[in-house]
Amino acid sequence: MKRLTKIISAIIVMMIIISLSLTVSAENSSTYYQNKQNEANQNSQETQEKIDNVESQIDSVLQEVADLNVSILDYQNQIQQLTEKGKQLDQSISEKEKELAEKKKILENRLVAMYMKKPTTFLDVLLSGNLMNFISNKDLIKQIADYDNKLIAEVDELKTSLENEKEEVEKVKKEKEEKNKELENLKAEKEEKAANLTEEQKQLEKQLSEYKAKAEEYAELERQAIAKEEAARKAAEEQRRKAASSNSNSAPVTTYKGGKLGWPCPSSSRITSQYGYRILFGVRDFHTGIDIGAGTGSNIVAAESGTVILANYGWNGGYGNYIIINHGNGITTRYAHASKLYVTAGQTVSKGEVIAAVGTTGNSTGPHLHFEVRLNGSHTNPLNYL
Ligand SMILES: [Zn+2]
Repeated sequence: MKRLTKIISAIIVMMIIISLSLTVSAENSSTYYQNKQNEANQNSQETQEKIDNVESQIDSVLQEVADLNVSILDYQNQIQQLTEKGKQLDQSISEKEKELAEKKKILENRLVAMYMKKPTTFLDVLLSGNLMNFISNKDLIKQIADYDNKLIAEVDELKTSLENEKEEVEKVKKEKEEKNKELENLKAEKEEKAANLTEEQKQLEKQLSEYKAKAEEYAELERQAIAKEEAARKAAEEQRRKAASSNSNSAPVTTYKGGKLGWPCPSSSRITSQYGYRILFGVRDFHTGIDIGAGTGSNIVAAESGTVILANYGWNGGYGNYIIINHGNGITTRYAHASKLYVTAGQTVSKGEVIAAVGTTGNSTGPHLHFEVRLNGSHTNPLNYL
């Protein structure tokens, strides 16, 4: 029981150590830096969207300020005109006042003249025996005075109407000034808003450049990590190859000793195209291997023990997904148009081991295995080896 506890705690300690070392290596891996870089790029993009949004807000606020400026100018113009009109009215009013004063003075003089003139009382007139003359004189003066009074009343009335007009102008002007003040306040508010938005934009731009710098930094770290990983992978591969060649006696045979190669496609013996010249789409073409027709996914096996020196996905010059195995003594075999590859470069394989699945990738019109045998790099007729 005690022993079991010891074993369990030892396992736990090992797991902790392993997870720690995994964490450490994950933090320096190219994937880690790529994730960090993606994160920074994502942040950059989000910040850029925020900036675009703030910019369009600034645009619309500035447009509002421009519109307000037009209104404000219009109001200022109207106020200016009203001020002019008020001045003119003031002048007219003072002219009327002057006129009134003159007319009143004339009337006053007339009245003074009338009362100063002898005889001035009815008794005087009676005594003078010149009643008729007096009456007509008095009537005449009264008529003149009435006329003067009427003129004065008219001028007075005119003056009053000018004063009313002036009052109305002042009232309208005041309203306009109030409205103008409102617009000025609104404009100040908008300008403040624009200033705040501009400040926000500045902050966001700063943030954006920080995110960009970070993304750049992580990209550089990722490049360094990839280079390191690549170097480590190559070193490991080199080591494996050295180990494989030094173990060549005990490990599966990597040196072709002559004799027959194994058939590379156990599920089918149907050769659909032979090695040599053939007419393909009306064009004479040299076929560098044999084609073995087989269903997609059928096993492809190593024709002989050896080391996989290439296992590539892609078009690959028409080969599609394909594998090259080196068997030593200058002999290599190729397996093309595969749907799947089960081995990787550097791996040793034994004769008959499943290495890939039949497919129709690359330059191919249907599922088949294109099988090549090369001697010192030059293709030869595989049938000579099978
Ligand atoms: Zn072929």
